Amino acid sequence: MARILVVEDERDLQRVLDFNLRQAGHEVLSALRGEEGLRLAREHRPQLILLDLMLPDLSGTEVCKALKRDTKTQAIPVLVLTAKGEEIDRVVGFELGAEDYVVKPFSVRELLLRIDVILRRTSGALPDQLPQRFGRLRVLRDAHRVFVDERELELTALEFRLLLTLLDRKNRVQSRASLLDDVWGIDAEVTTRTVDTHVKRLREKLGPAGDYVETVRGVGYRFADAPGEDER
Ligand code: CA
Repeated sequence: MARILVVEDERDLQRVLDFNLRQAGHEVLSALRGEEGLRLAREHRPQLILLDLMLPDLSGTEVCKALKRDTKTQAIPVLVLTAKGEEIDRVVGFELGAEDYVVKPFSVRELLLRIDVILRRTSGALPDQLPQRFGRLRVLRDAHRVFVDERELELTALEFRLLLTLLDRKNRVQSRASLLDDVWGIDAEVTTRTVDTHVKRLREKLGPAGDYVETVRGVGYRFADAPGEDER
């Protein structure tokens, strides 16, 4: 039994899926549009998302990209519902990071089997539900709380996202441009200087853990590979 979000604009199909998923013991959230789907995914953290590719507002591929870009939703597996002839390879390959797909029209039984396989593979706590420790730093993702030496920090939503983005890519350099995309969003009207300003402020707030965020001159930033020996 899992919480499953269905993003599908065909009402008949939405109803069929809703009925059958509930019959199978799942909790179902439904969205008829992409934006609504993204909002429900962020708010309710389903264990699986069924995503139609042809939606009236955003395309399913855009929805999938947005899900995978957001640290709050990127761990949620996505099963794509696609009509024949849509670009399945692009969808399921690296580009979008979907787990699996079914081609319409599909049998509900087949779909339920695929769902079980994915849920079995991803069962147990999602990584973002476990407290994450790094040296003096402790992050509770679900609760959006960050502690340094058990002292809680007051981070803005943006600083929290920036910290998680760096932490998730530990020991890999993040260019200012990629941080802009991932933390602020591609459309944001900010410059790379904004990144520097926010990293500086984040470091200050992190206090003794601020050293974990390293500057890579001329490139960007990197979260340290391992905390210093004296800091454990
Ligand atoms: Ca559709």
